[in-house]
Amino acid sequence: MKREADNVKILKGVPVFPGIAIGKALHIDRRKIKVVYEYLMNDEQVAAEIVRFKEAVEQAQLALLAIKEEIPEELRDHCSIIDSHLLILKDKMLYDQTLRIIAEEKINAEWALKKALKESQAIFERIQDEYIRNRFHDVEFVTERLLRVLTGHSLESLADIEDNVIIVAHDLSPADTTQMKPDRIMAFLTDMGGRTSHTAIIARSLGIPAVVGLETITGVVSSGDQIIVDGVTGTVIVNPPEETIQEYRQRQSRYEDYRIQTVKYGHLQAETIDGYQIKIKANVEFLDELPSVLEYGAEGIGLLRTEFLYLNRDELPTEEILFNAYSEVVERIAPNPVTIRTLDIGGDKFASSIKWVSESNPALGLRAIRFCLREKDIFKVQLRALLRAGCFGDLRIMFPMISGKQEIVDAKRILEEACEELYREGIPYKESVKIGAMIEVPTAAAIADILAEEVDFFSIGTNDLIQYSLAIDRINEHVAHLYEPLHPGVLRMIKQVVEAGHRGGVEVAMCGEMAGEASYMPILLGLGLDELSMNPLSVPQAKRIIRMSTMEEANEVVNDILQFSTADEIHAYLKTKWAKRFTEEFLWPSSQFTL
Ligand code: PEP
Ligand code: MG
Repeated sequence: MKREADNVKILKGVPVFPGIAIGKALHIDRRKIKVVYEYLMNDEQVAAEIVRFKEAVEQAQLALLAIKEEIPEELRDHCSIIDSHLLILKDKMLYDQTLRIIAEEKINAEWALKKALKESQAIFERIQDEYIRNRFHDVEFVTERLLRVLTGHSLESLADIEDNVIIVAHDLSPADTTQMKPDRIMAFLTDMGGRTSHTAIIARSLGIPAVVGLETITGVVSSGDQIIVDGVTGTVIVNPPEETIQEYRQRQSRYEDYRIQTVKYGHLQAETIDGYQIKIKANVEFLDELPSVLEYGAEGIGLLRTEFLYLNRDELPTEEILFNAYSEVVERIAPNPVTIRTLDIGGDKFASSIKWVSESNPALGLRAIRFCLREKDIFKVQLRALLRAGCFGDLRIMFPMISGKQEIVDAKRILEEACEELYREGIPYKESVKIGAMIEVPTAAAIADILAEEVDFFSIGTNDLIQYSLAIDRINEHVAHLYEPLHPGVLRMIKQVVEAGHRGGVEVAMCGEMAGEASYMPILLGLGLDELSMNPLSVPQAKRIIRMSTMEEANEVVNDILQFSTADEIHAYLKTKWAKRFTEEFLWPSSQFTL
């Protein structure tokens, strides 16, 4: 027993899909090829090296196409990931750049490729948006695949895994994850990754518990080690003693019961005991997530982020590309409504097709609606595609980062121009699309009464509203501890937006991360929000808590907490008042925010 305890290791990572798995590890060696040598070449060798590099790209292309062909039915939605890797293979940042370095510096392909990767890393690191920044991993995966072809190190296939195992890897590429048989994988654990990494996304759509960002898991686990994965808290226990295994078996069965019960009733209306209804919708970042929207009971999409269509492309997406994507979403979710947010890109956000100006403070720079109002042609292409997609269901359009009335007026004028153009060209479009403003800049919150006259709905983007009102960069880890949704100032601002919106006759939604946090549900109810939009997986739990609540108690909670002067007092109050009331919910927090 003692000896067993000595071996026990406990690691904490980022939980990306809840659930408990207990089983044997399979360590997949996906370490990077570390040793790459630099060779100088003469002109003749350079010409041959260019041919060798192009052949390696072709070989990698064929391997990816073969993987795509064999993707099992349940993972078909993920073909787009392989497609994006195929695009990266020929992207100018990697392909053209490597060829240029080989020719100009007269060096071997491996070294040139590594150099090109480093250059693109520098570009990605300056990107503020976490989702887009994380797409650098795709460039890394593709580079690694190419390096393996160039150096003759082949990758073992993961299609042959037959036992039930917990996969442990430094990182997993989309090609890896799409090759695996989902019924054989009990959990994924990786050193790398965050909430928006592909492993996380695929684990979510397969419903497999996963913890990423464990940093050193591959250093402490060997194949065959017994492991407990707690995908709720992000805890991983390696070589646990028997009593811990028993404890976790009980936790596993409690979790299964809870999850089954929660998901089973996920389709019920989010209605409080005393009959108050609130709409619960889903946030979607890319099309792979569509099946989970309806599966988990969301009543539509409250926020579709549209940046993904502008990435991994040398050219701007055409109106047809945008129209096809938007109409697919609107049609698949119909008759439920879909709120599509116009492009929230700018400043330091990377899209190779757009020439960016350099900014010293990009979070406060030319972003979102500011960028679109300056680049009217790019904006109008998106608006035309949206108006056309409106014919396929209940589409709403929402403008991000609104800071004052004039921006809405200007955006609506361009929308009107797009309508007139489509009319003249005889192209069908939806004439009366509902228009919304995201409330995520403090001035917009302060003048919500004025903005209410201009739009049909508001959606509070708490991720940015908190960033801008507390003056903390949302991606800077040194001030992350100050990120506080329950700051009295934030709560007052939300209350004021809801009241001003309602007085002006507009519905008020919330679509920042705060909206999906189970432990905040009674507060969000009491604040009077009409709609909450969240990660699809959080929907059943949010609905469950709402159905267990009364509006009367929720109002009481909000009245009480608005009397406090600090977030700490509010947390302490909620802990005593609500932890007892919603014991199960607090056992299974839906995100990193726990009381
Ligand atoms: C927000 O700011 O809360 C929001 C939903 O938008 P994003 O996270 O995309 O900036
Ligand atoms: Mg935002």
